[in-house]
Amino acid sequence: MRTTIKEAATIEGIGLHTGCESRVTFRPAEGPTGYRFLSPLFKEPLPATLDRVAGTARGTNITDGEHKIHTVEHLLSAAAGLGIDDLDIEITGEEPPAADGSALPFARALLKAGVREKAGQERRTLGLDGQLEMAKGDIKFLARPMQHGVYFKLTYDYPHKLVGKQVVEFTLTPEEYLVRVAPARTFGFSHELEALKKAGLARGGSLDNAVVIEEERILAKGGLRYRDEFARHKLLDLIGDLALAGLPLRDIYIEAERPGHAANVNFAKLLLEKAQIK
Ligand SMILES: [Zn+2]
Repeated sequence: MRTTIKEAATIEGIGLHTGCESRVTFRPAEGPTGYRFLSPLFKEPLPATLDRVAGTARGTNITDGEHKIHTVEHLLSAAAGLGIDDLDIEITGEEPPAADGSALPFARALLKAGVREKAGQERRTLGLDGQLEMAKGDIKFLARPMQHGVYFKLTYDYPHKLVGKQVVEFTLTPEEYLVRVAPARTFGFSHELEALKKAGLARGGSLDNAVVIEEERILAKGGLRYRDEFARHKLLDLIGDLALAGLPLRDIYIEAERPGHAANVNFAKLLLEKAQIK
């Protein structure tokens, strides 16, 4: 059965890249409509789907052809991670709040609203009947059918003495997502910050919503939440980007090496193209 939330829930704050104030209100969706953004900017609800992706620079943006919503992946990750199928996302402004840089505030808001099943609405899922691979340079993806469950193995690797190689393995359930993935925060390298700001990105970024890696130390409010927080955040992003396929995953093993938003979106397109939907 498909799921949505029981009641509305709101979250407010500034966007990571735009630095602008915004408010997101999650609302129950009556129909089998997937994830949709509702805004006074849009003539009609904007589905959060792969064909609406407008950019993948440091975040995944979607568009109706005229206006953009930036950085949708953390919010979508929370919805998909918690097993929610249909959600109306009302937004003021053009980017959801950065919150604490993780998906946890979104996940908490959704759980507070409560998840409910929708009688008479059957859930369709995305599975595979064979192995699938995608590679570009040192970025690699692999997916194959699994007996039972949705399993991720993700490798993050960055040549920095405080980062190095981190591998996270994870079986997706709402309970595990909430504890092991949702709290992992956005991170960035201090040597990139100036260039990002010049490119109009990370304008709202601060230690309140990101972990900053300097040459000799890691600046993280309250300390790192996990030893491998960076790999876990990459997994959070991947789950959010795959949600743009518009279908929950079914009995699948997914391996990702050095993923990023552009590769995630391409992989989601490939998955959807080869999917066995039922
Ligand atoms: Zn992210």
